Amino acid sequence: RAAVAVAAAAIAISKLYQLVKDHQHLTVLRPRSRGVESLIGNTPMVEIKSLSKLTGCKIWAKLELMNPGGSAKDRVALAILRAAEGAGALRPRCNDVVVEGTSGSTGISLAVLANALGYTAHICLPNDTSPEKLQVLKALGATIEPVNPALIVDPNQYTNAARARAAAINADETDRRRAAFADQFENDANWRIHYRTTGPEIARQMDGCKIDAFVTGSGTGGTIAGVSKYLKEQDHHTRVVLADPQGSGLANRINFGVMYDLVEKEGTRRRHQVDTLVEGIGLNRLTHNFKQAEPYIDEAIRVSDTQAIQMAKFLTVNDGFFWGASAAINCVAAAKLAYKLGPGHNIVTIACDSGERHTSKFWKEAAQVPNTVRLDEILEN
Ligand code: PMP
Repeated sequence: RAAVAVAAAAIAISKLYQLVKDHQHLTVLRPRSRGVESLIGNTPMVEIKSLSKLTGCKIWAKLELMNPGGSAKDRVALAILRAAEGAGALRPRCNDVVVEGTSGSTGISLAVLANALGYTAHICLPNDTSPEKLQVLKALGATIEPVNPALIVDPNQYTNAARARAAAINADETDRRRAAFADQFENDANWRIHYRTTGPEIARQMDGCKIDAFVTGSGTGGTIAGVSKYLKEQDHHTRVVLADPQGSGLANRINFGVMYDLVEKEGTRRRHQVDTLVEGIGLNRLTHNFKQAEPYIDEAIRVSDTQAIQMAKFLTVNDGFFWGASAAINCVAAAKLAYKLGPGHNIVTIACDSGERHTSKFWKEAAQVPNTVRLDEILEN
């Protein structure tokens, strides 16, 4: 009887150990309270059944759009704020200022968390930012400093404006607040939070199934760096594929070792970027976070705006998913990869944000696509 009791105790302890191990990643994001920040991460995963059926692979999307601030950037914003607190650059509940230059989801995530944790979010916002994002930032009470649209001749322009603003607040002796520049492109906390949370969540949610490929785009590079490093450490056979929009130089960098997507515009010496409707991913410079990803990326797949627009509509009418532009790009690349790998593979991608943030630009076009659009037509474009 004693032996049975000892064996039962050993089994119970090992189960408890496994339980703690499986959920370890959650404590990274939610140790201190049950406020809005406790809802970040542990997002669900869904199968994209239409794409699975047509390609013969199983294609899964991690729904980062279900974070409370509406995107994966909640994880990064919280990690950046915690790192700044740890370094003494920000003090919670003292109305200190977190400053970022962004037209994307990061501003919204910082504004949400600033409210919850007692900071002010100061966003240097390019003045061509889509009106729905501006409205959300206003509603959240962020301080908005309009700056010129991001230009390819000065791609660091709104980042520089934010860095300068944080320095000016700190230098002002009449202003007792501290200011910290979030610096999402260069901040090491960005890819690390995906390594500590998003990657392990995906592995756990795939429940022991082999992950043949992970496909996603790169804005700062934080998601692809952190998730890829984690997944490759678990299984070095997992193929990592960068999904890259037209106009971005990252695909060429990966496939040919050189970024040459800048073209001279006729008659002027200014360099113009091939434009894209897609917001949040694609870049023509190398960032610290993307550099962390580069060693893990096996190939890049180029996706045109037409393909992304058609895919967004395809997913909505076939699966009921109303997703943003970067999620659509990821799905085009995932479908292309599925045909390349052949049936029977598991492919994981990311649905970064919802279509609701893109109604005035990307979805204005996508809404015009006929409901009957077919996958083979999309991949031909
Ligand atoms: N999708 C959207 C809508 C985004 O805003 C971003 C971040 N700019 C990404 C994808 C890419 O994420 P990351 O910065 O981690 O590369």
